[in-house]
Amino acid sequence: MGLRRTATVLLTVAVTSASFATTAAQAAKHPDGVSIHAGGPHGQVVAHQAHTTAGARRGGSPNMTSHGGGIMVTSDVTPIFWGKAWANSAFTGDKKTGIATFYGGYHGSNYAKASDEYIGNNGQVGPSLTLRGSLTDTSSSLTKTPSTTTILGEVAKEISNPVANGYYPVYTDLPRGNAGYCAWHSWGTIGSVPVQFAFFFALDGDAGCDPGDNSGLHSQGLAALANVSAHELSEARTDPRGDGWFDSSGAENGDKCAWTFNVPLVSFSNGSQWMVQGEWSNAAYNGGTGYANSSGQKGCVDGH
Ligand SMILES: [Zn+2]
Repeated sequence: MGLRRTATVLLTVAVTSASFATTAAQAAKHPDGVSIHAGGPHGQVVAHQAHTTAGARRGGSPNMTSHGGGIMVTSDVTPIFWGKAWANSAFTGDKKTGIATFYGGYHGSNYAKASDEYIGNNGQVGPSLTLRGSLTDTSSSLTKTPSTTTILGEVAKEISNPVANGYYPVYTDLPRGNAGYCAWHSWGTIGSVPVQFAFFFALDGDAGCDPGDNSGLHSQGLAALANVSAHELSEARTDPRGDGWFDSSGAENGDKCAWTFNVPLVSFSNGSQWMVQGEWSNAAYNGGTGYANSSGQKGCVDGH
């Protein structure tokens, strides 16, 4: 299957966004540095503190605007766990089951609905999510920070029947190391099917990517993945292919509220609870009903 699928991958990829770590050294990098190519990437990869500066740009509205492209009306999600460590129960812990619970509860949640005001050329963002059984590939592990092409290749290897509203988050066993981000989302094409996908470092013990969930409901590693998963999925839904919704500095709805939390735990539709950042709402900003992001702009909402 791998060879056949690999042969049909069209390597049309572009990084559009990432959740960044928060250390000063990392924030000093220009956020566009991780941008790849193709697909018309505005390619922002916004660091926590770098984003603060961009968001505080004088003049103009902080709101996002449509760039004329599509959004995700619904999403069809298949988590992929990639790396040898996923065969290790000590590494896996509660992460596989917790990720399934996360996406299952994201479906139809008030948190998901917080991103639903945006309209693209194919309709309006909707909260309906179909969760497929996860796939695990323990045949190899990444040895260095992957390109979008590498992650798309893994998706193509694992997914037999990609769908156009597919979102394929790839959870790896690779520690972040010196990378200035925790995760990113991107898009590409498998055969003739446009797909969305995302990449996640293993975040166990990684203070730079840790939301600080002290609820005791989840392991630290799972809680960290859940928060950045919320960020990436919300961005993929509102800007799946880089021509959807983002602001004048290129920040998408997750970027604009990264690392700001309204409440300690947000309840999802299946009763699970997660410490997840808010997402930017133009409507909330205009109406003065959101909570403040790291620039003090009150446009963040979490459906709480
Ligand atoms: Zn982002």
